[in-house]
Amino acid sequence: MMSLEQALISESFGFNFDNSYLQLPPVFYRRQLPTAVKNPRIVIVNDVLATSLNLDAEALNRKGGWLLAGNTICPGSEPIAQAYAGHQFGGFNMLGDGRAILLGEHIAQHDQRYDIQLKGAGRTPYSRRGDGRAALGPMMREYLMSEAMHALGIPTTRSLAVIDTGEVVYREGIQPGAVLTRVASSHIRVGTFQFAAVTHNNQQLQALADYTILRHFPEIAEAEHRYLALLERVVDLQASLIAQWMNVGFMHGVMNTDNMSIAGETIDYGPCAFINIYHPETVFSSVDVNGRYAFGRQPKVAHWNLIRFAETLLPLIDVSEKKSITLAAECLDAFPAQFFAYWLAGMRKKLGLFNQEAEDQKLAEDLLMYMQKHQVDFTNGFRALGGDAEMHEAMYQDAGFQHWLRRWEARLARQKEHINQSKQLRRSANPSVIPRNHLVEEALAAAVDEADITQFHTLVAALADPYTDLDHPSRFMQPPGEVFDRQYKTYCGT
Ligand code: AMP
Ligand code: MG
Repeated sequence: MMSLEQALISESFGFNFDNSYLQLPPVFYRRQLPTAVKNPRIVIVNDVLATSLNLDAEALNRKGGWLLAGNTICPGSEPIAQAYAGHQFGGFNMLGDGRAILLGEHIAQHDQRYDIQLKGAGRTPYSRRGDGRAALGPMMREYLMSEAMHALGIPTTRSLAVIDTGEVVYREGIQPGAVLTRVASSHIRVGTFQFAAVTHNNQQLQALADYTILRHFPEIAEAEHRYLALLERVVDLQASLIAQWMNVGFMHGVMNTDNMSIAGETIDYGPCAFINIYHPETVFSSVDVNGRYAFGRQPKVAHWNLIRFAETLLPLIDVSEKKSITLAAECLDAFPAQFFAYWLAGMRKKLGLFNQEAEDQKLAEDLLMYMQKHQVDFTNGFRALGGDAEMHEAMYQDAGFQHWLRRWEARLARQKEHINQSKQLRRSANPSVIPRNHLVEEALAAAVDEADITQFHTLVAALADPYTDLDHPSRFMQPPGEVFDRQYKTYCGT
């Protein structure tokens, strides 16, 4: 194995590290330097993100390759791998950062704190049998998907850069290796709490909970029942997040508890994909043979994961276990209704509705029913309502759907807002451009197999502005056709 010494460089590139995670009890992490790679080459640097984080984008592009590959460490960085556990497809495992290394917490503007993590940076004490590395295709995919989610306005980890390592990794065949720089509000997961809980050390558990509260929910730090309040916050953030996924057709693909962020961000872009034709049972992930993480099951899975989170907090919520369970159960029981309220609020926007009427739920569900019946593209189907895309012919011919259209028009006429305002609202909630699977795969294939990154750049640029009305028919709006979808498979990319 290559072993280049990490050089500590004086160049900071604007990084301003303050590593509060190191104040947690030592069981929660291990100090671990990235393993240097042979020949780092910058594939892409996210200039806009870099600038918004107060980083020196120009310097990163010019000479940041070594730093972003983990070959050098800059001042203030104290690299660690984090410990966590998690339910993977329902089975509990001890995990941890097996191929990701946290360089530190960067303090950006307004004292905002961000984890800066290198994914694919080499082996750690948690690697088990893994090689600690990542392949170029999946890291470029994470870059593209996470940035698309951000542009859609959905909470997510971000991607600062992708580096080609100049080494190869062995997956299905030989692939170029890569390191992704991931930026997150934190990497504290449901699985981090599960890790704390299995140690049966309540001091450690409480240290993690207190740390999490101070970092993400300082407003509850003085609350009398702060651990219950922590549960409530996380439940609320997840209800909102999953509703936003459902509103744009995003399928995470591997909602294991280690892939659920306490800060409420979408995290871990492995086998995720956007649906084209609307069907709740859609699954693309090659490993999800039972459809555990199917599109329509996401709210249920989130609820299940949150129950696992609540279980870890029971020793902290109240001295009486019985009382803890009662309080936690009350909070968890509220999740389905909370999710539904967020989902319906999103649907109202998609339908251009400003106020609320009792019939709105039925209106939204009936539309989805017609979409499913006629195999309508979810994204274009909603754009077509405003006349911004072509209406699906078979659905349009359906007398039932014609009746639905009249119901909807009558509903629009009953609100005081002008029809143009309604149209504006719809456009702000119904993207025209999403990362269509076939376009993503085409762009990745060109970049990885032919070293041609132009398509990737074009796609990234188009996805940065998803709600703008394209007045020309764009290939970015074309669904791939049913055959592609039926055969399409996504992979965990490990
Ligand atoms: P994921 O499927 O990305 O959520 O990863 C699940 C677990 O497997 C995490 O603990 C990862 O750190 C670990 N893992 C994934 N790929 C690798 C790899 N190539 N080497 C070491 N650990 C890995
Ligand atoms: Mg993971």
